[in-house]
Amino acid sequence: EETSDNTSLSQLNLKIGFIGAGKMAQAICKGFIISKLIKAENVSASSTGMNTSNVESMKNIGVRMANSNADVMHSSDIIIIAVKPHIVSTVLQEINCIEMKSKLFVSVAAGITLEKIEELLPKNTRAIRVMPNTPCLVQCGASVCSPGSSATKEDCDMIVKLMSSIGICHVAPERLLNGVTGLSGSGPAYVFQMVEAMSDGGVKQGLPRDLATKLAAQTLMGAAKMVLETGLHPGALKDAVTSPGGTTISGLHELEKGGLRAALMCAVEAAAKRASELS
Ligand code: NAD
Repeated sequence: EETSDNTSLSQLNLKIGFIGAGKMAQAICKGFIISKLIKAENVSASSTGMNTSNVESMKNIGVRMANSNADVMHSSDIIIIAVKPHIVSTVLQEINCIEMKSKLFVSVAAGITLEKIEELLPKNTRAIRVMPNTPCLVQCGASVCSPGSSATKEDCDMIVKLMSSIGICHVAPERLLNGVTGLSGSGPAYVFQMVEAMSDGGVKQGLPRDLATKLAAQTLMGAAKMVLETGLHPGALKDAVTSPGGTTISGLHELEKGGLRAALMCAVEAAAKRASELS
């Protein structure tokens, strides 16, 4: 079913344009092309400064580098804005004069609200905001998208389908996006800290650093996969590996003493609060 759905999307011959050709644009674009949802020849991108490594990477994926943002606008049905948040209003003002009725506008910029985006675009422009995260770079992202006031259900379905080519993508109202930012947006960094700390623990037990880091990362990935694939409650999965009087419960007791759960809840809360201050 997945294949026939993908075929139907690529048969639409949708033209996609990226304004900004940095890390996020490349990750998203790669996913669309590798998954065959979109043909490389239908993708264009623009970037200022023409930072050669970004331009080279885009060209290697088969993407046409346009001379201007206006060029990308003219040649695309879906425009993905992937510049840094503080550049968004400049870019939107620059392309505001272009006919936009038939186009869908997508922003991945953190903290830039739909209200702000819609205010800077012609009235009734179809817009969708997406909050992705860095694992999109390895096709394992977690994204949430929120439709603007003029976006249709079909627009939203299409963006979910496209973003699902580089991970999972869910739809949620925009008021939840700060929480999403605190959890999945900032979450990879929390996990990097956990990997580093677990690796330190292994090194303290005499393991070589390389092995310790690999074991830590694989363990986190494997456990996460079990949660996603079994659909079981994480507490039930924890209970299943915790034998009475065994090794794991001794380790878990230390995590409770160290306040791991409270620390993670506070981390999500603090990052969400910061996101709300920035938007
Ligand atoms: P980046 O610095 O790697 O890329 C930015 C790109 O924008 C560059 O190619 C640059 O040349 C281009 N650019 C700058 N000014 C421009 C202009 N006026 N017109 C056209 N292009 C211009 O940044 P990134 O990490 O890819 O982030 C892009 C957006 O994605 C940000 O708004 C960020 O909030 C969002 N985002 C990124 C991540 C992430 O993990 N990197 C996660 C969530 C959201």
